[in-house]
Amino acid sequence: MNLNQDIRFADIVDIKEVQLMMTDFNELTQIPIGIIDVNHEILVAAGWQKICTHFHRKHPETLKNCQESDKYIFAHLHDKEHKAYRCKNGMWDIAEPIIIDNVHYATIFLGQFQFSDKPENDSFFINQAKKFDFDQTEYIEALHSIPTYTKEKVNQIMRFYSKLGTILAQQGLNNLKLRRAYEEIEQKEKVLLQKNKEIENLNEEYKEQNKLLFEAKNKAEQSDRLKTDFINNMSHEIRTPMNGIMGFSSLLCEEELSNEKIKSYTKIINNSGKQLMRVIDDILEISRLGTNQISATEEEFCLNELLLEIFALFNIKAKEKKLAFYLERPLSDLESTIKTDKLKLNKILNNLLENALKYTYEGKIDLGYHMKDDKLIIHVKDTGIGIANEDQEVIFERFSRAPVDSHKDVVGLGLGLSIAKENAELIGGQIHLESEKNKGANFYITIPYQPTLMKIESDTVEYTILVAEDEEVNFLYLEILLENNITQKCRVIHAKNGEEAVEICRLREDVNLVLMDLKMPIMNGYKATRLIKEIRPDLPIIAQTAYSTDDDKNKAFSVGCDDFISKPISKNELVLKLDKVFSQS
Ligand code: ADP
Repeated sequence: MNLNQDIRFADIVDIKEVQLMMTDFNELTQIPIGIIDVNHEILVAAGWQKICTHFHRKHPETLKNCQESDKYIFAHLHDKEHKAYRCKNGMWDIAEPIIIDNVHYATIFLGQFQFSDKPENDSFFINQAKKFDFDQTEYIEALHSIPTYTKEKVNQIMRFYSKLGTILAQQGLNNLKLRRAYEEIEQKEKVLLQKNKEIENLNEEYKEQNKLLFEAKNKAEQSDRLKTDFINNMSHEIRTPMNGIMGFSSLLCEEELSNEKIKSYTKIINNSGKQLMRVIDDILEISRLGTNQISATEEEFCLNELLLEIFALFNIKAKEKKLAFYLERPLSDLESTIKTDKLKLNKILNNLLENALKYTYEGKIDLGYHMKDDKLIIHVKDTGIGIANEDQEVIFERFSRAPVDSHKDVVGLGLGLSIAKENAELIGGQIHLESEKNKGANFYITIPYQPTLMKIESDTVEYTILVAEDEEVNFLYLEILLENNITQKCRVIHAKNGEEAVEICRLREDVNLVLMDLKMPIMNGYKATRLIKEIRPDLPIIAQTAYSTDDDKNKAFSVGCDDFISKPISKNELVLKLDKVFSQS
């Protein structure tokens, strides 16, 4: 009849506690009571009588009567009429099932008592004692000690125990149900959490996909924009020189042109042709780079010479734009003889210098290099319009140009930097940029230093000569004169203004002589000489200037110059002056 077979009374009620409670209660009331589960297992027993435990349940014959009684009671548990039974041993048993929602959980037993209105007389038990060979005195004593109840009392007891059992079972069942509901909720929560996690993961995936889509859309839009810009720029870049060629070649056809005009028109046509060639070269180069058709070809050459050639070419353009242009070559020609792809390096530097000239309106441009570890770092620095942080990556991409705001007249195809970058990578190097908007741009090309000769030890240098000269060409001329005409090994250092000259003399004790230009920006040679003499009174300083009146000479001597040489400097005069200085030292 237990419909809910998986739940047993012992599962929902704390049997140990009930047993303790029943034992205490039995001591108070002397009511013998038991709880038996649906599988006939005795769960709780309190106050069982000696007559039962010592006699009836001990002897096999009387035990049979007990079992028959148990059987009967169980068989009639649910028909109200027959739950009380007087067993063949002369004892009464009464049972009451604990039923909740039609499920039978356990049975309350009240046993081994006598009804006060129907007491059994002793003769029946004396016969029993004889029949089963019980100690008669003890047996009758045990009989007299069992409780006697009225019918009402029995009903009361049964009502009480049945109610107690039901309340306990109901409570336990409720607890169990709660526990199960709680476990179910926990389980559902786990599933929910898992689902949440899955949704979160999906969300992340969607976000990532959205980001990729957004980037792809932006790229597509950008490349569309680039294409349009490229076509517009291309049209401009081709039309401008073409206009020059077409316009001036038609002018050439006019009659009676002076020789001078013919020369000038031809020069314009020639320059326009060159400009057009550059555009075509760039487009061809970028398409060849794109198909990986180009590889590097190493050759041996002197980097100092290459830089000087490039310098000479761009110095003319820099002068036209009134920009100062400086060259820095710290290694000797021998040390700067390296192995790399000369044409590619030349192309990279040309592109960077063309940009430096194009995007600089005042100030200066620096070209040079220095060594770092086993790398050669070549720089092209300018004081031009600079590049905003957000544009610094994109400008290296093909056809990309940064907005040039007020300088709308500055056009280009956006190919120069990508050609430079790809060529730098081809020769095992890279380009990086440091720049700020309106604060100029510094481009650095880092390539492996592969010298063809060992570095010359610096202790072979006997003289260190500082040339203070703002005009790079004048410095280069002096450098060549000094290096070629002094018998001792000398190192030449360049200061581009008076301030730099003072600073170098302060920091470098190895400087043995200064050739001081008097007219320089930032700080002129007079002031610089005075300051240097304050720090190093014994350092010889030879003034060199294009103004060579007596007044100039006197002024130079008055600030501390030791000698004077006029520009243009003649080789013989320089050698004489140097011999004089060095023989005194
Ligand atoms: P182009 O000069 O033909 O536009 P480049 O690829 O040589 O193409 O340069 C890309 C962009 O980078 C230029 O449009 C310009 O915005 C920026 N740029 C390059 N060099 C400089 C520089 N020295 N100073 C400022 N901006 C520069």
